[in-house]
Amino acid sequence: MRNLTPLANLETGVMFWAGRDPNDTLAELAGLGLRCGQLGFPGDLDLSVADAWRDALRRAGFAVYTAFASFNGEDYADIPTVKDTVGFIPPRFRDERVARMLAVSDAAAKIGIPGIGMHVGMVPNDTTDPDYIAVREVTRRIADHAAAHGQTVALETGQERADHLLEFLIDVNRDNVGINFDPANMILYGTGDPIDALGILGARVLSVHAKDGDWPPSDKPEALGTERPLGKGAVGIERFVRKLVQVGYKGPLAIEREVPDHNDRMRDIATGIRVLDEAKRSVLG
Ligand code: MG
Repeated sequence: MRNLTPLANLETGVMFWAGRDPNDTLAELAGLGLRCGQLGFPGDLDLSVADAWRDALRRAGFAVYTAFASFNGEDYADIPTVKDTVGFIPPRFRDERVARMLAVSDAAAKIGIPGIGMHVGMVPNDTTDPDYIAVREVTRRIADHAAAHGQTVALETGQERADHLLEFLIDVNRDNVGINFDPANMILYGTGDPIDALGILGARVLSVHAKDGDWPPSDKPEALGTERPLGKGAVGIERFVRKLVQVGYKGPLAIEREVPDHNDRMRDIATGIRVLDEAKRSVLG
């Protein structure tokens, strides 16, 4: 879906979720001055909402460039729980989630969204592990389905170290597969410095989350770090934007804030817009 006015270099956007009324949701985002973003489809959402979203996006002139999927049964309580419940790694959820992902790809095509995205789950380091092989095959299958719609597939980063994720992408071996780079996730999962990671994965970045967070406590190896409002965590938003420019990324920066309360979320997104404006002014001049 293309906006009437072309998007600016590193234009600020937002990661938001379908579920509430499309027109109300888009009016609220327009009120913050936003005109692009990534639309998430929760696992329990009836995808027949696609028609209403297509019409509302067209009317509002709002460009959605990624349809993100989350799945029923996912739980982000701590690292063992993520390993056991997220993405395509847990075998007991695999078939239903692949079917759901293909359905989200179809819904995205109906709306006119040029890419899909998701967490694949924690990819095992051992490339002969049956779960590694299964998730690689699933990713290829989704990629080929998406390619038939002309869509890209973005794997959300953070649950693997950058070098391992790059090896996985090479092994998947599909031109339309890349990453949605989330610098905060690298910190929350303790998988490495996000700026170094961006240096390794730069050529594979399809899209970006502007999210912040603090590292997990060093005495609790199973704990995740804490997500924080943009500019309040350990990412360093200015150095993040500087590195994006260095690796040649020119797409939008989607602010992501995952607090449950809607008003808190909107307040933090509004603050995040100012934080990004300041970082972009400093980097781009
Ligand atoms: Mg993210």
